[in-house]
Amino acid sequence: MEWDEFAHWGKHIAQWGADYHKTLRDLPVRAQTQLGAVAAQLPDRPPEAGEAMDAILEDFETIVMPGMTHWQHPRFFAYFPANAAPPSMLAEMLVTTVAAQCMLWQTSPAATEVEGVMIDWLRHALNLPKPYTGVIQDSASSATLSAVLTMRERATGYTGNRDGLSNKGNLRIYCSDQVHSSIDRACWVAGIGQANLVKIKTSGPRMAMDVDALKAAIASDRAAGHTPAGLIAITGGTGVGACDTLGPLLKVAQAEDLYTHLDAAWAGAAMICPELRADFWAGVEGYDSIVFNPHKWLGAQFDCSVQFLKDAQPQLNTLKIEPEYLKTTGEAVVNYSEWTIPLGRRFRALKIWFLIRSYGLEGLRDRMRNHILWAAELCEALRALNGFEIVTEPLFSLFTFRCPGGDDAQQQLVDALNDDGRIYVTQGLFEGRRVIRFQVGQFDTTRQDVISAHDVITDVWGKIS
Ligand SMILES: *Cc1c(COP(=O)(O)O)cnc(C)c1O
Repeated sequence: MEWDEFAHWGKHIAQWGADYHKTLRDLPVRAQTQLGAVAAQLPDRPPEAGEAMDAILEDFETIVMPGMTHWQHPRFFAYFPANAAPPSMLAEMLVTTVAAQCMLWQTSPAATEVEGVMIDWLRHALNLPKPYTGVIQDSASSATLSAVLTMRERATGYTGNRDGLSNKGNLRIYCSDQVHSSIDRACWVAGIGQANLVKIKTSGPRMAMDVDALKAAIASDRAAGHTPAGLIAITGGTGVGACDTLGPLLKVAQAEDLYTHLDAAWAGAAMICPELRADFWAGVEGYDSIVFNPHKWLGAQFDCSVQFLKDAQPQLNTLKIEPEYLKTTGEAVVNYSEWTIPLGRRFRALKIWFLIRSYGLEGLRDRMRNHILWAAELCEALRALNGFEIVTEPLFSLFTFRCPGGDDAQQQLVDALNDDGRIYVTQGLFEGRRVIRFQVGQFDTTRQDVISAHDVITDVWGKIS
């Protein structure tokens, strides 16, 4: 492709993007496609000869787009948001175009230095104290795995990587029964094993880990000859938004010499709002590792996950490796690939820079505050509906509810809502009961979008009940 042609299609795609986003409200949120329908429209074999870009783009519009679920739709209330504010998309276009590999300072000095400053901006925005540094990873799953590997290495005197894990006994990691599956998976692949991930019961309106139960579990593990290695706390669990009481947990962890990791992948973004910190962030400043995803609520295009580290050294001791070809000379520089599992890395800091400069922290706070208000307003409207029940109260902008009927009725309503297409929600499980999960957080959502969900829910429920 000639570069003039690239410019032509680049403009075309930018215009297409603006049109797409302006008309998004009219599309069904979840793809209304049948299984296999997209694949069936693609040829079995790759073309031998090159094709023209207009033909490729036409197929993109007619074959691909009808099979997409619209994550940027203002009435996307499922899972958690994967917001992509327009300035962050523009930054991604630039990053894609420059296409640098940012593994070492030397391979991309500006990417490394902007990343360092963005980590520090976010540290400040989230009110974390000075010693914290950090790194941008692709996902919270990767950051959590890095932290779990660090727990393993630290608890084995940094001999696991060298000698393997035979004869190391049982390393134990503690978390609540509300953690995300990425914590289980990190323990699987780190060689800890599911059986050594100890899930402590939760209680209270925030579904917080029971501190006494944690102490008892650690004591009984020590008595059994196991090695307590780490604690994973959550601020804003995926199911119902569970929040641990960070300070008291940290006290236990420090007394037991556990490495601590905090999963705030979703709700960490809301900690840029000072009024939420007293309730949900107190005690955070002692955690060894903290992950939050700017690619969720904050608005930085996926993927972008920030891992803060109180002291980077334990993680560097765990992950840093320096084959001959990666050695650099000269002054001490930060080579972020030494902080993570993958070697190759994208320039993810640029979209944070564009995002924060475009909206300012106040612009981002306004959105989140509105989301929390509107979620509460909708929650009250649903509570007032005859036979409907609020199962878990709003934590930030997430709550769960049930319509009249048993577990099957809940799933039927979720499926019917998503087939209808005006809103998109997902199901969950709470204390053994099926619930309908509702979160507000899409970047462009309005009060009207959120409140209209009440009418959609009653309308669709009326049709199936
Ligand atoms: C989304 C989420 C994760 C996983 O995040 P990825 O970046 O997709 O790996 C982990 N924990 C919580 C609480 C989450 O909300």
